[in-house]
Amino acid sequence: MFAKFSPLPPPVAHHGADMPSVALQHINVSYGDVRALDDITFQLPRGAQVAIVGPNGAGKSTLFNVIAGIVRPTGGRVDIYGTEPGGHICVGYVPQRNRIDWRFPVTVTDVVLMGRTRKIGLFRRAGQADHRAVQEALARVRMDALANRQIGELSGGQQQRVFLARALAQEAELLLLDEPLTGLDLPSQEILLQILEELRAQGITILVATHDLNQAAAYFSTVLLLNHRVIALGKPVEVLTAALLREAYGSQLHVVHGGVDPQQSEDALLVADSCCGAAALPPVAYSERPMLHSPSVEDVLEQVRS
Ligand code: ADP
Ligand code: MG
Repeated sequence: MFAKFSPLPPPVAHHGADMPSVALQHINVSYGDVRALDDITFQLPRGAQVAIVGPNGAGKSTLFNVIAGIVRPTGGRVDIYGTEPGGHICVGYVPQRNRIDWRFPVTVTDVVLMGRTRKIGLFRRAGQADHRAVQEALARVRMDALANRQIGELSGGQQQRVFLARALAQEAELLLLDEPLTGLDLPSQEILLQILEELRAQGITILVATHDLNQAAAYFSTVLLLNHRVIALGKPVEVLTAALLREAYGSQLHVVHGGVDPQQSEDALLVADSCCGAAALPPVAYSERPMLHSPSVEDVLEQVRS
């Protein structure tokens, strides 16, 4: 059954030279009776930039949790750079904001510094280079002025930027961004898009879950269309077709650009309006946290903590 990964520190992963960044084989995840992911198999090369789209409840966040090593699949095999997930200093995770409990008492600096844990090592205190990396990362997302604030006191956009700073300080090679632009103020959106552009140029592997199909088509070379199972994976023009979108979104598909009838035109770009709706789960309090739970800030931080 579903369970969290062991709290024991996982071994630091060493990357095989030619390993794909992400390789999933027949992954299943169930929450009780709910099958969130069903026989997911795909593989992404290093440097891939992939938009993950699908309706609310399709399993996008669950997929990220599996790749980050926070959720253990009920079946199947996950390889991140050729080794099991968890313990990868190179995986940066910016979780979906409305799905995590932000009450964990840590400051902005703590959150970003924890991204350096494996670089620092188990028995060494953070050194000058680590503090410099943290400061630089916070400056890059323009959060340096709030370095001593508690993470829970920040606005959504600011929290998102802190997690991005953490991924930058971590020098992540694989970045998982779960609906990074949803509900963000404009300055935060601009900063995020600009940094994404820079990371792209550096050849970092980036997976972004989004409900915005136009954004997926505009910014990404690869799109993964998900609804519990992989509906399609490929170039935006191959994946964002009326037939495949209808298969993925079903009744959630309702706005059609220019009034084009999807029955008539396979090329119509369809927009599904399913942002942050019914599937958003309330955060789970620590004291009553059940075995099946949404990740908390603590879970996400633990993922690279020794
Ligand atoms: P998405 O991110 O695409 O909206 P999720 O991965 O959040 O999808 O959810 C996939 C399915 O799993 C949904 O049916 C959702 O209700 C269910 N689910 C997600 N997290 C939990 C949880 N912690 N406990 C129970 N069910 C969950
Ligand atoms: Mg989600």
